[in-house]
Amino acid sequence: MRYSIFSLVREALADHRGWPQAWASPEPKKTYDVIIVGGGGHGLASAYYLAKNHGIRNVAVLEKGWIGGGNTGRNTTIVRSNYMLDANAHFYEWSLKLWHELSADLNYNVMFSPRGVINLAHTESQRDAYFRRGNAMRLNGIDAEWLTREEVRRMVPLLDVSDRARFPILGGLIQRRGGTARHDAVAWGYARAASNLGVDIIQNCEVTGFAIKGNRVTAVETSRGTIEAAKVGVAVAGNSGRVAAMAGLTLPIESHVLQAFVSEPLKPMLDTVVTYGQGHCYISQSDKGELVMGGDLDFYPSYAQKGNLPILEDAIVGGLQMFPMLSRVRMLRHWAGIMDMTLDGSPIIAKTPLDNFYLNGGWCYGGFKATPGSGWVFAHTIAHDAPHALNRDFTLERFDEGRVLDEKGAGPVPQWH
Ligand SMILES: Cc1cc2nc3c(=O)[nH]c(=O)nc-3n(C[C@H](O)[C@H](O)[C@H](O)COP(=O)(O)OP(=O)(O)OC[C@H]3O[C@@H](n4cnc5c(N)ncnc54)[C@H](O)[C@@H]3O)c2cc1C
Repeated sequence: MRYSIFSLVREALADHRGWPQAWASPEPKKTYDVIIVGGGGHGLASAYYLAKNHGIRNVAVLEKGWIGGGNTGRNTTIVRSNYMLDANAHFYEWSLKLWHELSADLNYNVMFSPRGVINLAHTESQRDAYFRRGNAMRLNGIDAEWLTREEVRRMVPLLDVSDRARFPILGGLIQRRGGTARHDAVAWGYARAASNLGVDIIQNCEVTGFAIKGNRVTAVETSRGTIEAAKVGVAVAGNSGRVAAMAGLTLPIESHVLQAFVSEPLKPMLDTVVTYGQGHCYISQSDKGELVMGGDLDFYPSYAQKGNLPILEDAIVGGLQMFPMLSRVRMLRHWAGIMDMTLDGSPIIAKTPLDNFYLNGGWCYGGFKATPGSGWVFAHTIAHDAPHALNRDFTLERFDEGRVLDEKGAGPVPQWH
């Protein structure tokens, strides 16, 4: 059924009894043209674009839990393309363009809200770095604007822009076309659209190994039996290292915990996304009124998918330095996801040394905004056995060849990216 105002009215009059299941849950077939491991946004988007853009519909997405239960449903939903290096800028900008059309394309409201993303600057050197990034963005045709302190104050009146602030705000770099989206709706929307095109979405199906003959994966071992595949794509975010190891590959990736927090619901007070420049806190307000905040990594590798108090405190301190008026607000809950941090902070979307085995991972802090673009180019890479122009730099080999994409200039230390 197509979702529209007419179907909504029809179902409202019929007591909402006629809505079909959003996506089918078939038993796995014996064999597929393509198996995608991981039912997060990236895996589901890849399956959708395989079917839609390349006509490859004999596809299964295997998810060990429930779709969107990984990082896709755990992030702070910030969407932007404010990157400096060409490879990142072009890729994320394409993704942002897809975001603007996504609800219509999927016939599913992903609640994309281009409310702007402001990076606050607190020192002159930071301001210069933002000028540089903003100029690079504009040269790449991406919107970027410098806001003076007064303009920041007008846009976000509750920010402490005074000279009394611990780190006074000098201004901010804004990307107005950036914003937020409803994260699990993205997984559900892609799942429904992919399922409508014939893709099998198989939940509670953990991949436990790969059958390999010569240099090819011939089948995927799962908790629901062995499934043959001509090609296998892996999009498992924080589990990239574990799943690749099942195929005998060691990745230039470390797994780290990243946390997020929400406050009790408040009246509308913040209609944009603000990131603190002098610590690690980014903040927006959800449609329910909760303040959504993210902080830093734990700074040591871990697979513990749960929050902890020291990082919460650290992020809250940053939040309060920006918005002292929040000091009485109660925090409601916090959670964590596992980040697959690469050595240069940029993703890997590439064919691996195995002939028919492809990897989509290394998203570090920022893979949610990449979801449509990532699915688009990963599907292309699998379908054509060659990268799309937008992901040709995101290879595994770049670390061997010294062609790293170190956006921050942080060096080969995964947790610094
Ligand atoms: C707290 C937090 C805040 C974040 N904030 C932002 C943000 O504001 N903006 C942004 O752009 N990004 C953000 N991110 C990053 C973003 O969420 C991720 O990069 C992105 O969602 C990754 O999507 P994915 O589909 O690759 O992974 P996931 O959604 O994690 O999907 C991978 C799936 O693979 C499954 N899987 C793993 N192993 C197996 C197996 N063996 N067999 C079968 N299935 C398996 C998992 O269960 C999971 O569902 C944040 C992440 C976190 C945790």
